[in-house]
Amino acid sequence: MTLRTATAVIDLHALSNNYRFIQSLAPDTKILAVLKANGYGHGLERIAKALPNADAFGVARIDEALALRAAGIEQPIVLLEGFFAAEDIAILAANNLQTIVHNEQQLAAILHARLEKPLKVWLKIDTGMHRLGINPEQLEQFYLTLSQSKNVQQPIVLMSHLGCADESKNLATPKQIALFNELTGHFSLEKSLANSAGVLLWPESHYQWIRPGLLLYGVSPLPIEQQVKGIAPVMTLQSSLISVRNIAAGEGVGYSGAWISERNTTIGVVAIGYGDGYPRHAPNGTPVLINGRRVPLIGRVSMDMISVDLGVQSKDKVGDIATLWGKGLPVEEVAIFATTIPYELLCNISRRVHIQLTNESA
Ligand SMILES: *Cc1c(COP(=O)(O)O)cnc(C)c1O
Repeated sequence: MTLRTATAVIDLHALSNNYRFIQSLAPDTKILAVLKANGYGHGLERIAKALPNADAFGVARIDEALALRAAGIEQPIVLLEGFFAAEDIAILAANNLQTIVHNEQQLAAILHARLEKPLKVWLKIDTGMHRLGINPEQLEQFYLTLSQSKNVQQPIVLMSHLGCADESKNLATPKQIALFNELTGHFSLEKSLANSAGVLLWPESHYQWIRPGLLLYGVSPLPIEQQVKGIAPVMTLQSSLISVRNIAAGEGVGYSGAWISERNTTIGVVAIGYGDGYPRHAPNGTPVLINGRRVPLIGRVSMDMISVDLGVQSKDKVGDIATLWGKGLPVEEVAIFATTIPYELLCNISRRVHIQLTNESA
């Protein structure tokens, strides 16, 4: 007897198809594929190697960038939040890593560094999201300083980030795009603004570089009713039934007996829990796919297990595969039940989850 425990089945063929779909939406732009947080839970090096045509990769931490270099990745790599310590600059230069600059401290550190090779810099402007980026009125001074520094490789790239791009009616996005154009129109430099939602909904935000993350992994950043055709999920999270039992009406299931059956039914236990990254707050009714049908999660999510109501007529047995999300059950739907976003579910996949590679859709 060998039962499957929590396994993320990773379909690299779906990844390539998603990449090509993104290219088709923005045929004249370069793609910076975003791989932060372990490739959104899919495996940093694995995803990078499966995207040989990506023009660049984006990560959030220097360790992620160094792991990619150690794995032999040669494409440009950009630190999307820049560096956090002046000492990092030498590491960036030595490993041919590019950095975003979004504050005065980073600018000063670059100007004062002793470098043998200049750094490639992406200058980030705050166009309204008010998270990272220099203020619009600082742009001319930052540009002048960067363009005159021998530590900076010319030309630099100008970028900003969209805060509301997933909302097609939100006027914040056209406002951000207009401000970005007003501020950068007179620079003949490469520019970048679009995340996945920008790629999908705002073609005027594409410029020379798009920066898709979520969409690469076959998941939509848009509200669930706005279906995105042309992508397929790269990750399918599965485990198996490790117990099937009948219970009588009125019996409670799991910790605190938090769910009480209204009828005689069959309860299945699936070997996955919050220790694998399945959300502990997923409520009763969160769908789980077993033998082609959706059954409801019931009771508390445990560290290593969840329970599902298989129903009165169930023929499911120990060893049958359960799909928590992925093919047949979009993670976007599970995220709604768990009152979170697909990003969080994907990147919370924990270390003990097995990885199985497949080319299923090939
Ligand atoms: C994470 C990130 C992205 C990708 O966002 P998605 O919504 O996953 O496409 C793009 N740009 C920056 C600066 C980011 O931090």
